Amino acid sequence: MTADSSSDGRLERALASLRGLAVGDALGSQFFVPANYPLLKRRELPPGPWQWTDDTEMACSVVAVLAAHHRIDQDALARSFAEHHDFDRGYGPAVNRLLRLVREGGDWRELSAALFNGQGSWGNGAAMRIAPLGAWYADDPEQATHQAEISAYPTHQHREAVVGAMAVAAAAALAGAPGGPPSAEALLDGVIALVPKSAVGAGLRRARDMLDYGDPATVAAVLGCGRRTTAHDTVPFALWSAARALGDYEEAFWTTAQVGGDVDTTCAIVGGVLASGKTGSPPGAWVEQVEAFPDWAPASA
Ligand SMILES: [Mg+2]
Repeated sequence: MTADSSSDGRLERALASLRGLAVGDALGSQFFVPANYPLLKRRELPPGPWQWTDDTEMACSVVAVLAAHHRIDQDALARSFAEHHDFDRGYGPAVNRLLRLVREGGDWRELSAALFNGQGSWGNGAAMRIAPLGAWYADDPEQATHQAEISAYPTHQHREAVVGAMAVAAAAALAGAPGGPPSAEALLDGVIALVPKSAVGAGLRRARDMLDYGDPATVAAVLGCGRRTTAHDTVPFALWSAARALGDYEEAFWTTAQVGGDVDTTCAIVGGVLASGKTGSPPGAWVEQVEAFPDWAPASA
């Protein structure tokens, strides 16, 4: 039995993942507010509404392009990122500038390749937005990985950023498999098999070795939890955390948020991966606290 591969089935899965991503992003970003630090320790929710950030805004573009083109069209994706770019949503400075220049008519191919002295960005931005694409391709994890690779280039051309996106998409595709989510071991083994040799891949193998560690803070200290906002400092821990709690959104969220780091992004990745699966949706009361999606975002068919 394979996952529903009709366009409507794919869109419904992608939208479910997008919802999980937005809750992780919006609630996670609440814990950058110092007054909310004590709540995090006690696993108590801050008062709403919770505003989403760049992770959700870009993920809406990913799903919009899939809904319109049924694959990633890089020019359409770059255009959507640029047109919908809201400077106040917490983008990094390099992407803020890039998207402004694209909006003014610049060529994303040249601008994205030129970032960071021609090395391209290795930030976690291509990974943070991509889980819904994995959900879309839950019937075909290899295609998820391939389309995620293509999706990274408009903003992130460093190999690590690209592989980070591939890994998150692969995880979301595997988590969305019919018959329920795989075991933690099977999820990470499956992702490792789908991504090329890289620092992200090495981190994922380490994450696989640490699945039975009881203390997330220790694991985060080893793998990184986004403090440097690089793909390789973000993706291995996020997928470790997602793998350990597939099917339990609340547990996955709190475990991820409590170690700190780039909390909106690690929680966006974890939330998007979990909600790709039928049993990993965020609680309804949490969804209600999240600000509405932008009016141009894709909706159910
Ligand atoms: Mg963000």
